[in-house]
Amino acid sequence: MVEKLSQVLHGIAASPGIAIGKVYLMEDDDFALVQREITKDETKKEIIRFKEALAKTRADMLATQEKILKTLGKEYARLGSAYLLILEDPLITRDVAKKISEGVNAEYALYRIIENVVRSFEMIDDEYFRERKHDIQDVGKKILSHLLGKEKRSLAGMAAQSIVVAHNLTPADTIQMRENLVRGFATDIGGRTSHTAIVAQSLEIPAVVGLKNATAQMRDGDTIIIDGNQGLVLLNPPPEMIENYKREREIQLAQVRELEKLRDLPAQTLDGHRVMIVANIENPDEIKSVLNHGAEGVGLYRTEFLYFNRTTLPTEEEHYENYRRVAQKMLPYSVIIRTMDIGGDKLAHFDLEGFAEEKNPFMGLRAIRFCLKYPEVFKTQLRGILRASADGKIKIMYPMISGVAELKAANKILNAVKEDLRREGKPFDEKIEVGSMIEVPSAAVTADLIARECDFLSIGTNDLIQYTLAVDRINENVAQMYEPLHLSILRLLKTIIDAGHNAGKWVGMCGEMAGDPSFIKVLLGMGLDEFSVAAVQIPKIKKITRSLTMLEAKELVSDIFSSDDNESIADKIKKHEFKITKK
Ligand code: PEP
Ligand code: MG
Repeated sequence: MVEKLSQVLHGIAASPGIAIGKVYLMEDDDFALVQREITKDETKKEIIRFKEALAKTRADMLATQEKILKTLGKEYARLGSAYLLILEDPLITRDVAKKISEGVNAEYALYRIIENVVRSFEMIDDEYFRERKHDIQDVGKKILSHLLGKEKRSLAGMAAQSIVVAHNLTPADTIQMRENLVRGFATDIGGRTSHTAIVAQSLEIPAVVGLKNATAQMRDGDTIIIDGNQGLVLLNPPPEMIENYKREREIQLAQVRELEKLRDLPAQTLDGHRVMIVANIENPDEIKSVLNHGAEGVGLYRTEFLYFNRTTLPTEEEHYENYRRVAQKMLPYSVIIRTMDIGGDKLAHFDLEGFAEEKNPFMGLRAIRFCLKYPEVFKTQLRGILRASADGKIKIMYPMISGVAELKAANKILNAVKEDLRREGKPFDEKIEVGSMIEVPSAAVTADLIARECDFLSIGTNDLIQYTLAVDRINENVAQMYEPLHLSILRLLKTIIDAGHNAGKWVGMCGEMAGDPSFIKVLLGMGLDEFSVAAVQIPKIKKITRSLTMLEAKELVSDIFSSDDNESIADKIKKHEFKITKK
């Protein structure tokens, strides 16, 4: 019997596995508050409460500044001084108190004043000054946390192993979970290929996203089950359901152990066609798991994660040390280092002229576009990568290339950096391979030209699908339209693979499609050479590859291309789907 409060919430399966535990509810970041009218007598008390919150905020800021001074030096403390100036500005101190005198609670008065100031800043033409509105909002949030008598909850505040439930988690939040006590997570928003979901897979944390209103239905300490395979969250499940899930988890773990026996066997079809199965990583700490799962290399290192949770750009030495460590640990295998892909849902904040918040970041100054606009930032990373290539097997890959001109522009900068290093006598791999991601439709249809200018292609289906079908990859409301098997996508994939092969180059895929067991056969049949997937997916992909023939995979592809509607394509692929049987 299901207990009274028991509920099943349906979302999007983001990272496989089952997690059972207590809810740790993270607050929403929105700075919106309820208005409460106060009497004349209460006004004085409310103003005192506001002034106390100001004093506490000031004390916090001074303490932070002191810490920055000690660890990073004077110049870095500049940002802290700017916050203090905002805090002491009459626009805050005087105007909020005035608003309270009109008969509203301190939180609401603060909210209204901050909103007014922010709106005035939004009208300023100068981009730099306009962007200072974020500093004002930050200061407002700091005062608010003291008014509410609590710190905004963060992952760092978790005391016991729990399941995080949040409206949204950014990739920068998720990457911090490594050091944390997070057993699983569930979010209101997000899609299957959002980077938050991708990081969850890398960290092997079960996750469900796109639940729409999970946060509204849960309380701290509720018991929940995250079913990351089915995309379900079970709130306050009855004891027998918990027992069932524990048993299911054991079965899944046994399957994983069974599959891992394939670790050292090659990914080869029954008729002898060999492909490479490599891993996607976001952090060097993942290498151990990558090797344990039997990867034959790293096919995508998402280096933008090096730029998160900080306000200064990584130095050349940081890049170099990081890549050298990864490359050395992966020897004798190679590592494809993708130059940074900041933008989209991977936002970072740096004080660079002209680098500001965008209305539509997936279409904005993302990845290679950012690098070509800020060549000095790009060069710092390229120097780090090239220098590390002297100590391991490294390949370079550019993200978001939209056409051959962009690839040539990136290569020109790369060649200039190589020249500088030669002049300085700093060693690097002179034969380093350079590849281009194909993840923008314009690149897909000109893949033949791009393939001539580089050494390999790697298909980024996460973006290729969103840009081709005009479906936001992180928006749960259109998630059902995100169709990897859309005929347009299958045609593009075939075009890209053929273009690469005709130019004599190998073609890989590092989008999530490569790690989905349902698609392996069709991708093999199209001739894909390398599958780069989350480490946890490797054994399954290997098992499937070793269980079929290239002949039948090719037959499936010709069968599909003779079809003209999506539904029958999905049916055909389903019919061929390989099932990993339960033990
Ligand atoms: C992709 O777009 O498929 C890809 C691998 O890159 P990312 O997911 O980091 O955008
Ligand atoms: Mg991409």
